[in-house]
Amino acid sequence: MIPAEFDYYAPTSVQEAIGLLQEKGPEAKLLAGGHSLVPLMKLRLAAPSVLIDLNRIAELRGIRSSDGGVAIGAMTTHSEVESSPELADRWPIFHVAGAMIGDPMVRHRGTIGGSLAHADPAGDWPAVALALDARMHIAGPNGERVVPAGEFFVDMLTSALEPDEVLTEIEIPALEGRVGMAYEKFRHPASGYAVVGVAAVVVTDGSGSCQDCRVAITGAGPKATRATGVEEALKGRPLDEQSISAAAERAGEGMAFLGDIYASEEYREHLTKVYTKRALLAAARSAQG
Ligand SMILES: Cc1cc2nc3c(=O)[nH]c(=O)nc-3n(C[C@H](O)[C@H](O)[C@H](O)COP(=O)(O)OP(=O)(O)OC[C@H]3O[C@@H](n4cnc5c(N)ncnc54)[C@H](O)[C@@H]3O)c2cc1C
Repeated sequence: MIPAEFDYYAPTSVQEAIGLLQEKGPEAKLLAGGHSLVPLMKLRLAAPSVLIDLNRIAELRGIRSSDGGVAIGAMTTHSEVESSPELADRWPIFHVAGAMIGDPMVRHRGTIGGSLAHADPAGDWPAVALALDARMHIAGPNGERVVPAGEFFVDMLTSALEPDEVLTEIEIPALEGRVGMAYEKFRHPASGYAVVGVAAVVVTDGSGSCQDCRVAITGAGPKATRATGVEEALKGRPLDEQSISAAAERAGEGMAFLGDIYASEEYREHLTKVYTKRALLAAARSAQG
């Protein structure tokens, strides 16, 4: 349980961090809250020769308004995201999902950027980012690029980030109309990770029909995924129990389910449908109420 030896750097700007990533090469790793990386290092499943600590980079922290939406700095902790009144007011899913992450220590040290960059198949923020159509701002040696959440999660523990890039900000676009959102998860009883977690966002018109919706599933497969079949089935339909139940039956269409000691593939498939229905019902209630 003791990590292999490494050199440690604590840059104070994103540019300095990128310079270090380039200089030290692919053996170097960024350190954010350390709540995914350090356990891997202690188990020697990761053995970076260099750690570049992002904790002294002030520009990576905080929540600010951006173009009608909001931008969350990558080094903002789960707890800061969960307790932000600005986020809770317009995007209450951050409060709900943030409160479900791990335990108080994980929430106070772990960061939203670290969670997204790590692309853990059971992480909570990837599903929330997909359901909100977040845009990932990434800085690298050639400047900045923006990657939509739908293209960011590539595979298990693999994101669209290159080894010399830093995720700087998560931009959440404004949502128009009567919006409801919810996050429901079947948590692993010890760690709190999602065995299955579902984020749902619905937009309704005055008549109570679903104008638009986005549903994203985490925990069930190798990466967080949009449930496009569910979305198609619900659009234009009334946001009532019957339509939601029918749409939720399509959750997991085209997905590869994971099976492990916590839950078999079949059980995860079943949970995916159950939690999709719960998340959509809760989102519909919040849009109507
Ligand atoms: C006991 C326990 C329970 C947990 N329960 C949950 C849970 O219920 N739900 C959940 O979602 N998570 C859970 N986690 C994981 C936790 O949320 C981590 O904080 C998160 O996965 C990683 O964030 P971090 O800031 O700790 O990143 P780190 O561990 O420091 O880094 C993770 C990876 O991302 C890279 N990285 C970090 N920041 C950046 C950046 N800005 N740009 C580019 N790359 C970057 C690092 O190089 C590393 O590869 C749990 C962890 C523990 C230990």
